[in-house]
Amino acid sequence: MERYDVVIIGGGPGGLAAAAGAKEAGADKVLVLERDGRTGGILNQCIHDGFGLVRYKAMLTGPEYALRARREAAAAGAEVRTGAMVTRLTRDRRVTAVTREGLLEVQAGAVVLATGCRERTRGAIAIPGARPAGIYTAGAAQNLINTKNLMVGRRAVILGSGDIGLIMARRLTLEGAKVLCVAEMRPAPGGLERNVRQCLYDFDIPLYLNTTVTNIFGRKRLEGVELTELDSGGAPIPGAARRVDCDTLLLSVGLIPENEVGAMAGVDLDPVTNGAVTDGFLRTSVPGIFSCGNCRKVMDLADFVTVQGLAAGYNAGAWVLGKALKPMPEETNNAMAKGLPQPGVLTCVLCPKGCRVTIDSATGETDGNQCPKGEDYARQEVKAPARVLTTTLKRADGSLLPVKTSKAVPRDRLTELARSLAGVTVPDGPFPWGAVVLADPFGLGADVVAAE
Ligand SMILES: Cc1cc2nc3c(=O)[nH]c(=O)nc-3n(C[C@H](O)[C@H](O)[C@H](O)COP(=O)(O)OP(=O)(O)OC[C@H]3O[C@@H](n4cnc5c(N)ncnc54)[C@H](O)[C@@H]3O)c2cc1C
Ligand code: SF4
Repeated sequence: MERYDVVIIGGGPGGLAAAAGAKEAGADKVLVLERDGRTGGILNQCIHDGFGLVRYKAMLTGPEYALRARREAAAAGAEVRTGAMVTRLTRDRRVTAVTREGLLEVQAGAVVLATGCRERTRGAIAIPGARPAGIYTAGAAQNLINTKNLMVGRRAVILGSGDIGLIMARRLTLEGAKVLCVAEMRPAPGGLERNVRQCLYDFDIPLYLNTTVTNIFGRKRLEGVELTELDSGGAPIPGAARRVDCDTLLLSVGLIPENEVGAMAGVDLDPVTNGAVTDGFLRTSVPGIFSCGNCRKVMDLADFVTVQGLAAGYNAGAWVLGKALKPMPEETNNAMAKGLPQPGVLTCVLCPKGCRVTIDSATGETDGNQCPKGEDYARQEVKAPARVLTTTLKRADGSLLPVKTSKAVPRDRLTELARSLAGVTVPDGPFPWGAVVLADPFGLGADVVAAE
């Protein structure tokens, strides 16, 4: 059985950062085991931008962020095995993974759990009604559209206003579907304020608060849902139900830390969240097993997952070498503004502070921004709002290439521009990150560049 100083289970941003952290602590042999065919975790399907604002001071797409994380782990000298699904972990840190070549068994000095999270499903929220096709979790739909080139439907209702649901409202619209509404059972949206603005308001998609799906119609394929308004106690208001005809329902109703492997080793889990319980050094209840990222606690931003992964990996390496551990960095989850955007108030999206900025239309003076960048942002947003367009292009072999425009394009033309790219096919094979794939295709001075 091969021995490693530190074995990291999961190759998302948390696991890749943990690998770099373990090497930084001085660990010699560091191994990342990832069940998927490539590392990067959930970021591979998140082709939208908004990642990396804290760590890289850049507005990256998910695949771009994953690329950087992958490169950092490789530069640190960590060994990475993809297609390796960990099926067993013992208290004394023996790790078993299923690979194409057969079972892989390794003995780890320390283990970092970085297995991420999964979505709550329809079963978990018990919607009554039929069981037709056309009901997906938002993340599953994201995966089908963004990585498999499979469209999930044409008229969609989204239940839940978490970030994935909001992001998918925009994505479906850009892909040519009609998003009829987002229904949220609570009195406030669950996702980030910037996502409510940029994913719903930008596309005139209604958000119904205090509203839920109370019935599902259709036999083979979804034909409609019943939306019902809820009272302040969360109970359906009699007579407040209405039918909405649709062929697709996306569920964005929460994420659950994935901890089957940790639980096998006896790691204590939070009974409410299912997250691995850790101390301030990211140690779980089992000596030598650490945890970071979404399997510990669901995080809003990949940047914070990376910071935590670095610390967990460092401590795992330090633990093996008998060195002092470093306290976990201050808990920075939920740092970005959440809630309903207020009329006449802008949300600066240039950093996670998400300042709420007002602008005097007569003088152009701004208020609420904590730095001068917010002033420029607000002026631009009032004068000529613009967004970077992120989408995918089909390669001749049917696979997808994530792309983005090299600069922001007019917000009001996003849908039209995205749809104009729908039939474009690009040659097979990899494009170097940032390579121009289509030179100024819209005549706006913005190239379409590879974002993977
Ligand atoms: C749909 C969506 C949209 C998001 N949008 C944004 C955004 O715009 N900006 C932002 O900053 N953040 C965003 N986030 C949050 C951010 O992407 C996540 O917080 C971050 O990716 C979590 O990193 P992680 O490493 O903990 O988990 P993941 O990225 O989920 O990685 C976990 C990895 O572990 C692997 N794994 C699990 N179990 C095993 C096993 N038994 N054996 C081997 N491998 C295993 C999985 O295959 C996966 O690759 C989004 C998240 C989601 C879900
Ligand atoms: S104005 Fe606020 S949100 Fe915008 S860049 Fe400055 S600090 Fe960040």
